[in-house]
Amino acid sequence: LSERLSGVFDRLTKQGALSDEDVKTALREVRVALLEADVSLPVARDFIKKVQDQATGQAVTKSVTPGQQVVKIVHDALIDVLTGEGDPGKLKIDNPPAPILMVGLQGSGKTTTTAKLAKRMKDREGKRVLMASLDTNRPAAMEQLAILGNQIGVDTLPIVKGETPVQIAKRAKTQASLGGYDVYMLDTAGRLHIDAELIQQAAEVRDVANPRETLLVVDGLTGQDAVNVATEFDDKIGVTGVVLTRMDGDGRGGAALSMRAVTGKPIRFVGLGEKMDAIETFEPDRIAGRILGMGDIVSLVEKAQETIEAEQAEKMMKRMMKGQFNMNDLKMQLEQMIQMGGMQGMMGMMPGMKKMAKQVEDAGFDDKILKQQIALVQSMTKKERANPQILQASRKKRIAAGAGMQVSDLNKLLKMHRQMGDMMKKMGKMGKGGMLKQAMK
Ligand code: GDP
Ligand code: MG
Repeated sequence: LSERLSGVFDRLTKQGALSDEDVKTALREVRVALLEADVSLPVARDFIKKVQDQATGQAVTKSVTPGQQVVKIVHDALIDVLTGEGDPGKLKIDNPPAPILMVGLQGSGKTTTTAKLAKRMKDREGKRVLMASLDTNRPAAMEQLAILGNQIGVDTLPIVKGETPVQIAKRAKTQASLGGYDVYMLDTAGRLHIDAELIQQAAEVRDVANPRETLLVVDGLTGQDAVNVATEFDDKIGVTGVVLTRMDGDGRGGAALSMRAVTGKPIRFVGLGEKMDAIETFEPDRIAGRILGMGDIVSLVEKAQETIEAEQAEKMMKRMMKGQFNMNDLKMQLEQMIQMGGMQGMMGMMPGMKKMAKQVEDAGFDDKILKQQIALVQSMTKKERANPQILQASRKKRIAAGAGMQVSDLNKLLKMHRQMGDMMKKMGKMGKGGMLKQAMK
């Protein structure tokens, strides 16, 4: 796949903005990559369409090809879709005892994941956890959980023969309250396929336990199917998150994207093996890289973008030191400030500007003000930008009105520009050993 891609990218090497054709060509390959990663067809189709609209017309970073640029845009869009609300690793387990319901098909990894999560809560948060197996279909399943519990030092509810899942759930609840547990986990039975009885059983247990979290465990190696399973469980039981298991395998994890896109449920954890520690919080960028399988290209583009930003900043610094700091420079700087985390962030990074950053902060500056200032500069003519001293009162009024602001705002901006210019000149005059020159080496 990579070979085929680089072939496409070699053919696309012109610079400028992304054309319709650039985007289409690159996205054809991306579409293949998504399908190979087992992303379901409708999801892949929707996703590609969305990215296509976003990407066309975007600027291409110097020294990367349009195709590479598109891959980066796709990568960022993937992360966007994969990112759910809130911290995926944070389970709602305040108000003890907090019930957690585990659901999913047979063999998806429910029992293993139950024990892994119990161990995690115990080790990381010092929680007292009780695990209960509700798998009345297979006696061996109950044994399995008891053995795992033993292994990780987490209590399991004693096995009582002949109980229904609902009865076990009730007993777990009572036991958890009496025993002073923080959390109790209900590991339900699965089937090979979704059927009415399975759903019915899970719903009854849910109504008894009223779980704080209902985690759907899905085999990450199943693509298409996983989406149907997730949709069904979410519709009938209501889930608060998904755990993708078997991500240690060589599947590309397209199920993650399909499930996010279709159910909108957050992916919370990924299982990475059979061992009890083999579980991690879900990280969108890692899965995005895996689904796309083009990690090299993404980091290449990121690097190129960083380099360009640094080059621009350096050029501007040089001009400033020579005292050629006009309103256009100021505007460019204001724009970069917004990009680089606002005024304080940017000034904090520039040598000698820490103090000013503090003043700016005290003055209550924020990005909204930056944008207003940019608007003011934009209302000026070219000549005025290069040489703001020529501004007469009448022009000031027009400019301020054009930007929807007051003349006093414009005066503040001009004053800031003067002060910055003066400071730049001073710094520049500090000669060869001056701190700006020092900093730029
Ligand atoms: P359940 O039927 O849903 O309870 O599934 P189990 O927890 O019994 O898991 C079925 C099999 O999958 C077991 O052999 C587990 O060791 C294995 N398994 C579970 N999670 C993972 C994982 O993340 N990676 C790998 N490689 N195997 C897993
Ligand atoms: Mg099980």
